[in-house]
Amino acid sequence: AAAVAAAEQVVAALREECATPAARLDGVAAAMAGEMAAGLAEEGGSKIKMIVSYVDNLPNGTEEGLFYALDLGGTNFRVLRVQLAGKERRVVKRESREVSIPPHLMSGNSSELFGFIASALAKFVADEGHNAVFNDRQRELGFTFSFPVRQTSIASGTLIKWTKAFSIDDAVGEDVVAELQMAMEKQGLDMRVSALINDTVGTLAAGSYYDEDVVVGVILGTGSNAAYLEKANAIPKLEGELPKSGNMVINTEWGNFSSSCLPITEYDEALDKESLNPGEQIFEKLISGMYLGEIVRRVLLKISLQSSIFGNLDQTKLKTRFILRTPDISAMHHDGTPDLRIVAEKLADNLKITDTSLETRKMVVEICDIVTRRSARLAAAGIVGILRKIGRGVPGDKRKSVIAIDGGLYEHYTEFRQCLETTLTELLGEEASKSVAVKLANDGSGLGAALIAAAHSQYL
Ligand code: ADP
Ligand code: MG
Repeated sequence: AAAVAAAEQVVAALREECATPAARLDGVAAAMAGEMAAGLAEEGGSKIKMIVSYVDNLPNGTEEGLFYALDLGGTNFRVLRVQLAGKERRVVKRESREVSIPPHLMSGNSSELFGFIASALAKFVADEGHNAVFNDRQRELGFTFSFPVRQTSIASGTLIKWTKAFSIDDAVGEDVVAELQMAMEKQGLDMRVSALINDTVGTLAAGSYYDEDVVVGVILGTGSNAAYLEKANAIPKLEGELPKSGNMVINTEWGNFSSSCLPITEYDEALDKESLNPGEQIFEKLISGMYLGEIVRRVLLKISLQSSIFGNLDQTKLKTRFILRTPDISAMHHDGTPDLRIVAEKLADNLKITDTSLETRKMVVEICDIVTRRSARLAAAGIVGILRKIGRGVPGDKRKSVIAIDGGLYEHYTEFRQCLETTLTELLGEEASKSVAVKLANDGSGLGAALIAAAHSQYL
């Protein structure tokens, strides 16, 4: 009984510290909108970089031809080949291959990583066999690179810093398109990178290709970020001539948002300190799939240090960072069996916790719920911040606003998705939320890159 009480005390404190009542989330949304404006005002004006994407027109459906895309940003990268057939027929063929990145390449050197990617791309192209289309025409590629990049044109940009599980020092400050182009040449692959985009920009582009009301693209996967369509005259830091369209897609890099209104616990602080990028990507560390399982693990470890509810336990596993993954906590959270058999299995398989009561397993589910609800509600607040910045989803605004979301966390974690959607309604209000919708843009980041490559083809 004393053990249960000690454990419950840890959970009660967690519940309180992770609480996100609407008033607090309103503060988060307001702070997000304020940081966005500051980031647009001048370079370095905010922790969120508000990167000018050089995409000033979203695809409109008229794009035609065979284009390639390369999507790099998580633990896997994907190569895509997309046949676009214009307004009526749209995407008539789409083939892709997913390759996992060997962990040692994520912290090695730049030429090894790009060499690995280029060789997989060369193989993908070689397997297609001879294609007469490319007898007198170069292949063209859209490169989705989901890290903060200081973009210098639609097809060039220098890496500002790595995030998530990547840390390759010699790539920072380099033009990632030049690196990829060089690696492709080494492979004898004749292909031109015609667009460099962020995955959020790709998601926005792919979303608006099918639905012109899409104005925001959000990634909720390994990491988290958002892009949106901004009025060019609302971007004081934009240099040179304003784009003809009057618009510009902005990659917010909201993952680096931080604010005193964020609910941060001792677990978040420790996770951040021990991470590859301490002090950075604070919002991302509260929200995204790379971290949720790890936060839960830290809570379970604390419980195991303060109580004996996990029995006589060898803590080696429980002390191993990132051993509990977000898909595992998702599986436990959705466990519908009466005796929480899946929770028992996950605890045993991942953490060697084999001896739990039903009561303890319920407690574990609650921890997953607390951590995931905080994440989903903060993500919703971020979206509301963007909508407020562009004056959408506010009372009196009759325009339809759609948010396209891509990423495994949103796609596969039902509790997360539902919580995000109800929180949006809660924050926007019943009336305004009628004009706002969210939708899954499955693999938008890849398709979006191919679409933007088509729009910037050298043969237009
Ligand atoms: P990336 O973000 O790396 O481009 P994805 O969009 O596919 O790739 O997202 C992968 C991430 O989504 C994983 O790191 C994981 O955190 C999360 N994820 C994948 N499957 C699930 C799941 N079943 N439940 C919860 N989260 C999941
Ligand atoms: Mg992705």
